[in-house]
Amino acid sequence: MTQLSSPPAAPSSAATHVDALLASYPDFPQPDILFRDLNPVFADAVAFRAIIDDLADQHRGQFDAVAGIEARGFLLAAAVGYAANVAVLAVRKGGKLPGTVLTEEYDLEYGSARLELEIGQLSVGTRVLILDDVLATGGTIAATSRLIERAGYILTGVGVVLELTDLHGRERLGTTPVHAIRSI
Ligand code: AMP
Repeated sequence: MTQLSSPPAAPSSAATHVDALLASYPDFPQPDILFRDLNPVFADAVAFRAIIDDLADQHRGQFDAVAGIEARGFLLAAAVGYAANVAVLAVRKGGKLPGTVLTEEYDLEYGSARLELEIGQLSVGTRVLILDDVLATGGTIAATSRLIERAGYILTGVGVVLELTDLHGRERLGTTPVHAIRSI
């Protein structure tokens, strides 16, 4: 009798929506950058619900708060926070938060930037899931990870809609579990 090998895993419904709706723009915002635009995914109600459910389900029970990175991560964090009934943290670009803030400088695929987090919003030891739209070089999420840990929280995972694998961002995130709905 012929032994049949298992068929490859079918892509999740969320990944199917990303494949169908993802838009790519060469040389934006500068030459040699292939910009991946997920706004068409967010603009489709069925696709948006699918990606939010996917991100919430992958780490379900493992986080008490989500941290969204300005600006597209906010869209994801607000919705996943609501879906999973957990707290929402806003990680903002430099200079926008009042009070006592933690700051991290980091390099981007294009340029450099600064991210900040207000301290004392949640209890020390709160388990946090970081959310953003695209994992590229990983600098943004690595900087956010440092902010989360410096604030006394426990980073339990990272969720992104899209991972650009040739930039090896995942390697900068150590042992933190990273879930990407679609890796290309
Ligand atoms: P990185 O720090 O390199 O992982 O970059 C991640 C952040 O920059 C994410 O918030 C993305 O929104 C944005 N980004 C970086 N590269 C791209 C790209 N090729 N297309 C779309 N967004 C990108």
